[in-house]
Amino acid sequence: MDLSHWLLRAVDEHRRWTEQYGPTVQHPATAVDERQLEDAFQRLGKALASCYPFFHPRYAGQMIKPPHPVAVVGQLAAVLVNPNNHALDGGPATTALEEEVVDLLAAMVGFPTPLGHLTGGGTTANLEALFVARESHPGLGVAASEEAHYTHARMCHLLGVPFHPVPTDGHGRMDVTALRDLLATGRIGTVVATAGTTAAGAVDPVHLIADLAHRAGARVHVDAAYGGFFRLLADEPDRPLGDPAPWHAIGRCDSVVVDPHKHGLQPYGCGAVLFADPDVARFYRHDSPYTYYTSDRPHLGEISLECSRPGAAAAALWLTLQVIPLTAPGLGSLLAAGRRAAVRWSALLAGSDEFDVFQEPDLDIVTYYPKTPGRTMSAIDSASRTLADRCAAAADPVFVSLPRTSARAFRRRRPEIVRDRPEASILRSVLMKPESETYLDHLHARLEEEARAARTPNPGPARTA
Ligand SMILES: *Cc1c(COP(=O)(O)O)cnc(C)c1O
Repeated sequence: MDLSHWLLRAVDEHRRWTEQYGPTVQHPATAVDERQLEDAFQRLGKALASCYPFFHPRYAGQMIKPPHPVAVVGQLAAVLVNPNNHALDGGPATTALEEEVVDLLAAMVGFPTPLGHLTGGGTTANLEALFVARESHPGLGVAASEEAHYTHARMCHLLGVPFHPVPTDGHGRMDVTALRDLLATGRIGTVVATAGTTAAGAVDPVHLIADLAHRAGARVHVDAAYGGFFRLLADEPDRPLGDPAPWHAIGRCDSVVVDPHKHGLQPYGCGAVLFADPDVARFYRHDSPYTYYTSDRPHLGEISLECSRPGAAAAALWLTLQVIPLTAPGLGSLLAAGRRAAVRWSALLAGSDEFDVFQEPDLDIVTYYPKTPGRTMSAIDSASRTLADRCAAAADPVFVSLPRTSARAFRRRRPEIVRDRPEASILRSVLMKPESETYLDHLHARLEEEARAARTPNPGPARTA
């Protein structure tokens, strides 16, 4: 698609809309000096050019990529109007669009009668889920795996709820035996299962967790901020995610967080929280003296902790899902490419003389480290950092990330590595762009080349006989 064309269309539509209301006179106070703007714009451009090339498959680092151009067009079209989805008065049109996309997300995870809304991101969405967890199970704690996102421990602190970390197994998934013991203490009101950990993309056994937790009378919240959209692939005939049971079980859980700004092609500022039971709305009840007066329909602000929220985020997601729907052949096909790339790369790395795989990928995140003569965490740390720096500085650069990884995590996955320090950096690549699939051979070749060169001592000046 031609982005310039559609951006201009958005501006034109907006102009046509405003013109219906007759001419407006621009107040001189809003005028700007175009030369000043030109100068500032150039400085902005320069600043932005210092970013890593997130758009290019040679960037295989953190979970970041540009939004789909359709999302940018939807966002811009709405932001020119600037609706506020706090209340119907602020955003009647975009409130309807938000309700529509929330229903689509809920259908994807398997909630037939959901309550939910978009949020600024996964952090706020998880906070709301944990707030509802606390209100529905007062006095009890929250359990999440040691490799769950750090926001859970932090938000429990904020909410005054005891937090209980549960150990993980050799795949980075919650250890259900440890969970069973913890639930037996009667101190847990809510278990957080993670569908796609941030570090390694590990998928907790949601089905086993849901069985255990519900038997113990606890709620289950699924943090699928990263992995939620992979649900679209769970039932594909070639089973790209292996056992579909964890994905099917999400529909039996009490709440889910999914981030459209991670794998939903949206710009930052778009998370979502969904509840299976619409009655949890009662925990949000409050009186707003400013809003909620134009209709008897409920306003999204009545079921959200955030007040002002961008209607433009709903518009961007809505427009995107009209043309890239939440189906396996739709958005699923973009995720499937990254998943195939991760599986294939992991196999290439495992067969390589230069690398060891840290953990087999459950999704599209590959974790690995350079083989070192001394099999110690110190040697791995130093070789990983050197290699990442070399790769980024090369003429044909590739960019990978350096997650700090604990000795415990090493003990569970790579017990043969000597744990001579509390943590070590390893290498991690999030293959969230479908283009990674076709670029993979080059990516792998470049990493091997640089790893080989890093091992070989500098030959120095040629000697004469
Ligand atoms: C990214 C992420 C979060 C935090 O979400 P933000 O959108 O960054 O606020 C929480 N949990 C998981 C599993 C994540 O991947």
